[in-house]
Amino acid sequence: MKPLLWLAALLSFGALAARPVPDIALSKDDKGDWQLNYQLTAPAKQLRFARSPDHSRAARWQPLDPAFQIGQDQDGEYLARKDGQAFSSAAIRLTPTYIYLPKDYAPFSPFSDGGLALHSGRFFACVGLCEGDEHWNLSLAAPKGDHIVSRDGQGRQSLRWQDGGEGQVLYVGPLQPREGAELRALVDPGLPPALRQALDEALPRILAHYAKALGPARAKPMLIASFGRTMGGQYGNQGGVLANQISMHWYGNQLEKLLAKPEQISAFLWFFAHEGAHFYQGQAGQVRAQQDSWLHEGGAEWLAMDAIRSLYPERSAFTDQKLEDARSQCLAGLAQTGLEQAAQRGLFDLYYSCGLALYQRLAETGTDPVALWRRYKAAVAKGAEPGRQVWLAQLPPSQAKVLAALLAATPPEAAPAWRHWLGTAP
Ligand SMILES: [Zn+2]
Repeated sequence: MKPLLWLAALLSFGALAARPVPDIALSKDDKGDWQLNYQLTAPAKQLRFARSPDHSRAARWQPLDPAFQIGQDQDGEYLARKDGQAFSSAAIRLTPTYIYLPKDYAPFSPFSDGGLALHSGRFFACVGLCEGDEHWNLSLAAPKGDHIVSRDGQGRQSLRWQDGGEGQVLYVGPLQPREGAELRALVDPGLPPALRQALDEALPRILAHYAKALGPARAKPMLIASFGRTMGGQYGNQGGVLANQISMHWYGNQLEKLLAKPEQISAFLWFFAHEGAHFYQGQAGQVRAQQDSWLHEGGAEWLAMDAIRSLYPERSAFTDQKLEDARSQCLAGLAQTGLEQAAQRGLFDLYYSCGLALYQRLAETGTDPVALWRRYKAAVAKGAEPGRQVWLAQLPPSQAKVLAALLAATPPEAAPAWRHWLGTAP
């Protein structure tokens, strides 16, 4: 490369380099109140959050100094002084309750014994828009009686660490992780016994099944299973995987009533298997383009179905029904939108239903989705960007061409094209 070009390349790289970031200090006091402090090395007028899936910080974060506010614009939420002046530190009181954030990890997932899991990525902020390659220095302090469990599974009173990317889950509370052969587990003692038993027995079996099918994981998984009894009259559960951490949260007052229905355990097995599949998808499941979510979400759905079919054949009525429902929901949805536009149209569920139907059709026509995932994972491990292109490249070119056309189809052609391909045409 010529020296001048080389300099230009260096400069343009510089423009994309990480933004200045504050140090982040989190603490919980004896009364259970949570405080967040940002400390900058040079004054700035705004701190912009790396993740703003909605505008809930404004209601849940109270700056201790009323001169500060949480604002929002087209680039998401930010912290600033009301008078627009620069600042070098800010302190905020947090609301440590569960909320659902669209397509993001819950900031706080309370345990019924007073413990709590938090997502570090919620607090990442930059001077200017974050570029995604920043690293933050964080600290966390717990009160007496509590300890902190981070990614490595060790309990401590206080913790300092460097974090970046999507962040990690940290537990603060009285529980000590339980070491099993397949996984390390922090399980809420308040979860109904039937559910705890299902987690204890089924999750290790499911993970061992995936390890055999998809190859061993890089690190021992850590399960963080929490239960918040309150959330108004609502009931629900949410899961997520961050590196070696598999999080599951249940909330609401209906859990015991639900567990009285025999098919509910099947539904929870599917939930465990779906999250477990994400863990074994690993890096290959980190697909950036939202319109390609069928790849990993549909993949996790199919792998879950496959795992339950082989480990719990007696539950086939449930898995058969899930598949049939997925096919009909997919076709109904594709009458309204193409799969690529589903996220924008608020029909994100189509990535699960159409994705499951797609992988199942591949299985029926001689392409084993497990073998496909192994090839795709191997390509990503060699440095390929996770996504549709690399995934399609693992298929014979003629099949890849048919699938690419299906994925791009829009109404009114989308539904009939998928119906024909899925083999359900009359
Ligand atoms: Zn998922």
